[in-house]
Amino acid sequence: MELIWLNDRFGVLQDRTNLGLIKFSNDVILIDSGIDESYARKALKIISENGLRLRWLVNTHFHADHIGGNAFIQRRLEVQTMTHLLTKPFVENPIFEPMSLYCGASPLDELRSKFFLAEPSKINAVFERGCYFEDVQVIELPGHALGQIGLALGDIVFAADSIFGSQVLDRKGIVVYSNIGDALKSLERLRDFNKCIPSHGLVSNRNLVHLNKSHIEFVAEKIYNTLKEQKSEETLICELIESLQVNLEDVGTYYLLRMTVLAYLSWLKEMGKVQFFVDKGRVIWQRL
Ligand SMILES: [Zn+2]
Repeated sequence: MELIWLNDRFGVLQDRTNLGLIKFSNDVILIDSGIDESYARKALKIISENGLRLRWLVNTHFHADHIGGNAFIQRRLEVQTMTHLLTKPFVENPIFEPMSLYCGASPLDELRSKFFLAEPSKINAVFERGCYFEDVQVIELPGHALGQIGLALGDIVFAADSIFGSQVLDRKGIVVYSNIGDALKSLERLRDFNKCIPSHGLVSNRNLVHLNKSHIEFVAEKIYNTLKEQKSEETLICELIESLQVNLEDVGTYYLLRMTVLAYLSWLKEMGKVQFFVDKGRVIWQRL
């Protein structure tokens, strides 16, 4: 058995969401399906050119750049599609992703692009932590997204978006999370492995866990310090964009950033470090 990451091995999907393959003789598990049909088409071509047969498709989480090729693959092949119990409703009803970013309201057209809204597809089986394939461990890695999983074989883990490459951390200034406490616990789980394969960035060792934890601590500290004076959510977001030098050019990036800032605020509040009150139609935050 072998765990392969497509970006490195085949060099055709560079700079986009990484996919993984786990080989069992000639049968393979494909990990994630990319953002759209063209991406899935490339993955299927690689599989068939190497004389392999796709038997299972596993989605690590519900974000559109990880499930966008599912429908195309399911139209072409009989494939068992599996994911976590909490991811299934999002894969089968992909409007839930842009709706959740847009406070549950009907999303703007700009949030219905392929970056946020995938074509619906079917999940045949759900699983949580455990061993579902021979020697392959499914690991729960929530924090970036609800119900996220990784797949591990020996001391190597396909960790998807539970960890980001160092270049991604440097370039973006702040990376997307929905639950900071869970993200930190998931990073601790990744310490058990010698090699981590992120969906965005290069394959790395345990040092990447340290870098990702430091990134979270740095952003949390930045928010805590910014709240030495009372700030509305909007003002806090504006000041963070400036101080972290975030390149914010579209409304989609704004809502991803907003969700992430709210995740940090929830976590800081749980830790007893910040508090909020409502005043004149605004939610005001301040550190304690
Ligand atoms: Zn993601």
